[in-house]
Amino acid sequence: MVTTLGLKMAAESGRRAGSSDSGLGLSRWHWSGPLWFRGVLLLLGGLRASTTSIPVSLRSSPPCRHHVPSDSEVINKVHLKNHIVKRDVNEHLRIKIIYDKSIEELLPEKRHLVKNKLFPQAVSYLEKTFQVRRPAGTILLSRQCATNQYQYLRKENDHHRCCTEECAEHTKCGPIIVPEEHLQQCRVCCGGKWPCGAVGVPDQEGVRDADFVLYVGALATERCSHENIISYAAYCQQEAKMDRPIAGYANLCPNMISTQPQEFVGMLSTVKHEIIHALGFSAGLFAFYRDKDGNPLTSRFADGLPPFNYSLGLYQWSDKVVRKVERLWDIRDNKRVPHTVNLLVTPRVVDEARKHFNCPILEGMELENQGGMGTELNHWEKRLLENEAMTGSHTQNRVLSRITLALMEDTGWYKANYSMAEKLDWGRGMGCDFVRRSCKFWIDQQRQKRQMLNPYCNTLRSNPLQLTCRQDQRAVAVCNLQKFPKPLPQEYQYFDELTGVPAEDLPYYGGSVEIADYCPFSQEFSWHLSGEYQRSSDCRVLENQPDLFKNYGAEKYGPHSVCLIQKSAFVMEKCERKLSYPDWGSGCYQVSCSPEGLKVWVQDTSYLCSRAGQVLPVSIQMNGWIHDGNLLCPSCWDFCELCPPETDPPAVNLTRALPLDLCSRSSSLVVTLWLLLGNLFPLLAGFLLCVWH
Ligand SMILES: [Zn+2]
Repeated sequence: MVTTLGLKMAAESGRRAGSSDSGLGLSRWHWSGPLWFRGVLLLLGGLRASTTSIPVSLRSSPPCRHHVPSDSEVINKVHLKNHIVKRDVNEHLRIKIIYDKSIEELLPEKRHLVKNKLFPQAVSYLEKTFQVRRPAGTILLSRQCATNQYQYLRKENDHHRCCTEECAEHTKCGPIIVPEEHLQQCRVCCGGKWPCGAVGVPDQEGVRDADFVLYVGALATERCSHENIISYAAYCQQEAKMDRPIAGYANLCPNMISTQPQEFVGMLSTVKHEIIHALGFSAGLFAFYRDKDGNPLTSRFADGLPPFNYSLGLYQWSDKVVRKVERLWDIRDNKRVPHTVNLLVTPRVVDEARKHFNCPILEGMELENQGGMGTELNHWEKRLLENEAMTGSHTQNRVLSRITLALMEDTGWYKANYSMAEKLDWGRGMGCDFVRRSCKFWIDQQRQKRQMLNPYCNTLRSNPLQLTCRQDQRAVAVCNLQKFPKPLPQEYQYFDELTGVPAEDLPYYGGSVEIADYCPFSQEFSWHLSGEYQRSSDCRVLENQPDLFKNYGAEKYGPHSVCLIQKSAFVMEKCERKLSYPDWGSGCYQVSCSPEGLKVWVQDTSYLCSRAGQVLPVSIQMNGWIHDGNLLCPSCWDFCELCPPETDPPAVNLTRALPLDLCSRSSSLVVTLWLLLGNLFPLLAGFLLCVWH
């Protein structure tokens, strides 16, 4: 008997093609009516199960819109006191955090999170990762002027910035008011004529022993109400000798601060990402980058500033920093169209990008070309570096790679400690075709070679969901290929055929992430119940463990779990009753490394993988149910540092592990004893587990 139950799953229908709100230049994920997938619970034998509504959504945040501060918001040429300070060569970058009073007004839990965990941890990481080439002594910031005219003048040998009318009542860094004690004395030159008169309190103490002052606020700004963002940040003052940003702000949107423990890692990586924008990774700073000898990479006018591009609202960089390159871009119907990209071409970035992709002729690292102002140009291309911390949208397993560290070095302002770089798997060693051609070209080529499409995919998100593993094999995932309400722009139409899709509909299909050039890839997701977040599909999070009676695949979530492909749907069996779940394809399991090779653990039973792709017939007993299914062996090298040569596995013993008659009266007692014994095994397994990263 097959019964269809009302188990509903909603999948986010993704972002509208080329969506961009007007006015503030916002653009965000659109939920154009959730697609309701009807899950089917197969009931073989008459067991009734209760119905629940479990919508599933792909975890994707709105893109980061780094707001490059306008010319009037930034003060350049700020002279530093005691500019050169003797320091140890290995001394870290020093970021001084100044909390605005809006932080003090947060609810105690949120305030504690921000002040004791979020910012100290983010700043500590960045301080260890970077070092300033020319350290500052004391930072004393310039004052803003009262009116918005082009009003400041400077005089040689006078480090003060002079306003033609009067100084602003408050000098702000982004939305945050800079404390008076961090400011120079106000100077006013009436009618723009010298001499300038000193007004108000004399020069203050400034901020000592810091290379960068970070003003942290929690103001409910207009941006917070318009954009679904946790925080945003930028620089606000640049010093005179090297143009390095010396002050910046990070504003947290108070309603978006979550004290949920499972959200902490995501918020931390967002805060790191935002501070990196303020320190140097910003299109507003490209024109100020310098070479390793400290010479500007973009030529300057007499006033020391690079040319200003009024249409972009940015200082115009030279092609020593960012260069436009035309790519050959394969699309559907065997067409090839020109696709222009902006590449960051500074030397260390080129070097690291070539090494990462294993493409010695790569001209530079591609910058984001979509998402509108703030997202494009200010991030790495999502298609190429998906989970890198400086791509334009948050992904759960964000890593700060050597490529971003190289960029920070290529600003000319910092040195990077590469031992702090995190391992980036996406795109690694994939070659020139991966990094220089369209994902259609890559997918077609892999199909012709009968090789995995990784990291891309071409299975439609449909009912039932076909589960797979995220590219790093640490989370259950689904392919984000979906139908859009409108045809995609021609250069992003990649499919010549898709199973079950009529030819005329093919232009509507693409990956749900616009900024990844609509290339489809496997993404982790989360389960929601009545709109409430329940759990994610990250194998390493213990809290994601499914309830006992929903754990069809006998999965195990936890810090040492990885995602494995299921070759067939798992069936739970008890007496005459059989249960299976329609959404299958992968699950989380523990693995361990042994001299014989990789072992896969299901409950307390280990299965040896003799070679990658080997099918492991799994049959175990758990809580009075027999779980039967097949798992696919991953490559031992994916998880272990040492692996024996691959061999053919021994002949499969298909005898089912049915230790007991589960239907007999004594079964419950025996099952309990069995479970007790089973509980000891994970302890033993824990000793055998390898540590991997
Ligand atoms: Zn950003």
